[in-house]
Amino acid sequence: MPVYDDNNIFAKILKGDIPCDKVYEDDFVLAFNDISPQAPVHILVIPKGKYVSIDDFGANADAQEIKAFFVAVDKIAKEKGIAEEGFRSIANTGTNGGQEVPHFHLHLLGGKKIGAMVAG
Ligand code: 5GP
Repeated sequence: MPVYDDNNIFAKILKGDIPCDKVYEDDFVLAFNDISPQAPVHILVIPKGKYVSIDDFGANADAQEIKAFFVAVDKIAKEKGIAEEGFRSIANTGTNGGQEVPHFHLHLLGGKKIGAMVAG
């Protein structure tokens, strides 16, 4: 597992050093609109804890953090109107997964029918 980089872009957003278009926040979770949306709704959901990737989160986050994360996904999907018609959630992981930002994030993509499961 790579060591967490405190200077990654989402760490800077969490510290308030870089602004974000926030859609949700609680004690454990922050969610904001992707800066380069790939669908009418494209939200990034991140834990506030320092986890590099989904597997790091699963292995090392505590039960409260994990529960809060997925409860937040449910709330956001309902609030943003994508729950009923469905949405795609993606957690790119590591080099082969095409992960650019090494702080675990779940992409929520919706507002239209999302295309191929895997492109390219
Ligand atoms: P990854 O490839 O790591 O799964 O996705 C990283 C995502 O973060 C990309 O969809 C990219 O557009 C988004 N992103 C990168 N930098 C910023 C930023 O400064 N603000 C926001 N809101 N999104 C960002």
